[in-house]
Amino acid sequence: MVQINVAQQLKASVGSTRGYGVSDFVDIANGTSLVQGEVRLMRTDRGILAKGTLYTELETACSRCLGLFSCPLTLNIEEEYFPTIDIVTGASLPSPEEPGCFTIDEHNTLDLTETIRQYALLATPMKPLCREDCAGLCPSCGHNLNDGPCNCLPQPADPRWSELSEASIS
Ligand SMILES: [Zn+2]
Ligand SMILES: [Zn+2]
Repeated sequence: MVQINVAQQLKASVGSTRGYGVSDFVDIANGTSLVQGEVRLMRTDRGILAKGTLYTELETACSRCLGLFSCPLTLNIEEEYFPTIDIVTGASLPSPEEPGCFTIDEHNTLDLTETIRQYALLATPMKPLCREDCAGLCPSCGHNLNDGPCNCLPQPADPRWSELSEASIS
């Protein structure tokens, strides 16, 4: 959980900023991930803008060899949070017009958890690779070729290559 009390900052003047170091475990997907980095919180005329770069790693399956690995992610967060009560009077405020926007709760807590989860899922590659040159699985026996060759017969070579090699012999 990444929760920041912003009561003081809601009372501050528009444009005032504050840095906040993040080093927390967040439940993203298939378990919790350590999220680290820094966000700057800026008082806006409507609420608080959180902006910063966070780093995390997500346990995910390689799209080629299906092995689990830690996929590093960089999250460039930029979201505005809207207060739900007036900081001075304590009266409830009407909900902001933007659908799906983030809010600051009645205890003046700005919760980055959901933002981090959404950004992490967006930053996760569609076809993650455990490494650039992952050899993948043998199409015949399913052996993980990163662990070395299997006993299957070699696949027939691409005919374009054999033509080339014949041409170079003659
Ligand atoms: Zn792989
Ligand atoms: Zn094989």
